[in-house]
Amino acid sequence: MWRVNLPTGQSWTEPGAYRVASGVHRIPLPLPTDGLRAVNVYLIESDAGLTCIDGGWAIPESRKRFEQALRSVGHHPRDITSFLVTHVHRDHYSQAISLRNEFGRAVVALGERERPALQSVLDADGSTEFVDRLRRCGAPALARQWAGIRMEGGRDPRKWDWPDRWFSGDFTMEVGGRTLRAVHTPGHTEGHYVFADLEAGLLFSGDHVLPTITPSVGFTAGLTAAAERRPLADFLGSLAKVRQLPDLKVLPAHGGTEQRSHERVDELMTHHDVRLGLCLQVLDAGPATAADVAADLRWTRHQHRLKDLDPFNAGLAVMETALHLYLLEARGHLERSTLDGVEVYRLATEVDGSDVRVEHDGRELGCIR
Ligand SMILES: [Zn+2]
Repeated sequence: MWRVNLPTGQSWTEPGAYRVASGVHRIPLPLPTDGLRAVNVYLIESDAGLTCIDGGWAIPESRKRFEQALRSVGHHPRDITSFLVTHVHRDHYSQAISLRNEFGRAVVALGERERPALQSVLDADGSTEFVDRLRRCGAPALARQWAGIRMEGGRDPRKWDWPDRWFSGDFTMEVGGRTLRAVHTPGHTEGHYVFADLEAGLLFSGDHVLPTITPSVGFTAGLTAAAERRPLADFLGSLAKVRQLPDLKVLPAHGGTEQRSHERVDELMTHHDVRLGLCLQVLDAGPATAADVAADLRWTRHQHRLKDLDPFNAGLAVMETALHLYLLEARGHLERSTLDGVEVYRLATEVDGSDVRVEHDGRELGCIR
């Protein structure tokens, strides 16, 4: 099961422990949903013990695969001394907690700004936050469907519990013989971190920089009304921060390890520029809600329409559109008014719709800033 390279054509999700650099293995673990298919845990070996970047989703199949993969490189889950968790989402965090609680050994560390999101999961208070957001976006039908989606509660203390240590700010730490630079990269979640090993040229990028999909932004509970408007601006700022690091090999939480950080960060920034331009183009036709704009855009690589997405993904799409509109408003391109609790946007009076250019040429290329 220990392979240096994936044979061509083999999926990145195939079980195993794959050596990606000296002393570093990628271990893909299964998820119970089919959307992302798997999550990568990165194992860093040192004389001082085993460190994992992320922990996987605490389900029995993942626990089994993790143990098998670790055995194939001569280790056991009880040997893990620390989990550096990129963010609080359950596919990254919950198994770090369950393994810590099972063996009572590993120290789990997480970004401090995940505290409100984690608190809201632990409270399992049946938060209606997303339902309210969707209503404000002008998507009452989706809001009703989301009200029926059971958000995972924190009642199971084997999977949901506090970390042992909080990260705050940017800092460097020693992990075995290597130095990791921990960089706070809010956007995907408020307390997201990436870890850069500059000497080895590696970027443990979590969900901040993913190779084939654009990470969702701001999908966490527990945000204040002000924080709710900020995630896209934060995300773009975090991309700029990572772009300032040297060009590194991307070790993402979802996907293979073939990409370089500079190229991928540039692509992600362009993607959002284009989306911002497309939003303006839609609003050039007249005032609209986030749901109206989302219905005019195309979604996923396959250019789906909003109505063809399942309710969960359609809800995410509408909320992401709202983030683009918030950012355009903050930049002075849009004006917002609220009618019966629904937010409606129009082009700011000084914005001339003819300035809005989005070149297509087979693919989306550029737009106004
Ligand atoms: Zn993830």
